[in-house]
Amino acid sequence: MRTVDIIEKKRDGHALTREEIDFFIQGFTRGDIADYQASAFAMAIYLRGMNEGETTNLTLSMAHSGEILDLSSVSPRVLDKHSSGGVGDKTTLVVAPLIAALDLPFGKMSGRGLGFSGGTLDKLESIPGWRANLSTPEFIAQLQRIGIVVSGQTPTLAPADGKLYALRDVTGTVSSLPLIASSIMCKKIAAGAQIIVLDVKVGKGAFMKTEADATALAEMMVKIGKGAGRVVGAVISDMNQPLGNAVGNALEVIEAIETLKGRGPADFVEHCLAVAEQILLIAGVAQNENAARAKLQSVLQSGKALQKFGDWIEGQGGTRRVLEDYAVLPRARIIEDVLAPRDALPRIAAIEADEVGYTGVDLGGGRAKKGDAIDYAVGIVFKHKVGARVARGEPLLTLHANDRAKFDAAKARLLAAYAFSDAPPEKLKLIHKIIR
Ligand code: URA
Repeated sequence: MRTVDIIEKKRDGHALTREEIDFFIQGFTRGDIADYQASAFAMAIYLRGMNEGETTNLTLSMAHSGEILDLSSVSPRVLDKHSSGGVGDKTTLVVAPLIAALDLPFGKMSGRGLGFSGGTLDKLESIPGWRANLSTPEFIAQLQRIGIVVSGQTPTLAPADGKLYALRDVTGTVSSLPLIASSIMCKKIAAGAQIIVLDVKVGKGAFMKTEADATALAEMMVKIGKGAGRVVGAVISDMNQPLGNAVGNALEVIEAIETLKGRGPADFVEHCLAVAEQILLIAGVAQNENAARAKLQSVLQSGKALQKFGDWIEGQGGTRRVLEDYAVLPRARIIEDVLAPRDALPRIAAIEADEVGYTGVDLGGGRAKKGDAIDYAVGIVFKHKVGARVARGEPLLTLHANDRAKFDAAKARLLAAYAFSDAPPEKLKLIHKIIR
């Protein structure tokens, strides 16, 4: 078999066999296939798509590029969630401790920033000392000891996804159903959780722009997960405007901690509770939505979830002081408000989430090239969301930057991402659909 023949076969729109997919993925993992060939392969898949069988084979091949963890020695019921990627999506930082505070083990492999979407690992790595690259014994020990573990792809866990993900981020090959489904589900299969809720985003700031596409992605992933013997459900949730108020790595950590202290933005709090509720329901530990909500509210209000967050961060090497002192996090040099334009109509009609995400990347919060260092401090904190009334000249948001030219460019890009109206816009719903 020749690598170039496989790339050409997909480029010309033909379906690949299981052997061809395996040859490519295992060769790429070993380093026998170059990054430029894998980039061409990803672009061919992006342009030509893959059928269900190919997508399943790609997922399984990526999962088997490393170990498949068996967590049954820790618990027969390890829980997990995964987002398909959004802007301001720090949901794992709140949902993981909520679940673990109910004495339910939460174990997960996450990703880094991808295109305009932020990455859970990048957010967590803004906390001094926090480590994502856990060995398998460390992963299991942390889950056993603390009840929460979040790792990245490592040389032994889904390494093919780690390598391909970094290339997709910078080669315009992110928003492809087979590439997203295989990337997410190979991590879920490899990390070993038995019960998984997929948070599939839809809208401007999501990779799936329509409800039909988001549903197709969710159904594909649920099918792959069930085929691998897991219990899987999905939530289709809105990503037309940023989730919560903060976008940017350290800024999102602060917002997650504030949420665990009971002071989170209403949309983000509701979203976290809705996702956590689905986890409890499909795990069978709550009979109905009200019962699930009551359990979650109790650990939120008692502060147990906040303490769990601290245990988790500390267990993975991070400083627990972050709970009380946000000064341990990187802070930008330029922190200034951006005001509503003098000619703006009185209501915010839209804040285009993808533009906000790209602005965060341009500020230095994401990568332009593979391996670029991240600026954890930069980002945006919105003061108002879609539907709010704002007076002309009133602050719309606070922009955190480390470079004046980048600040100016970000300000212009963000202002262009707004639409204003006279009448209240149609209310954006948070949850579009639930797939069990
Ligand atoms: N999350 C992932 O892990 N992979 C994707 O491709 C998109 C979101």
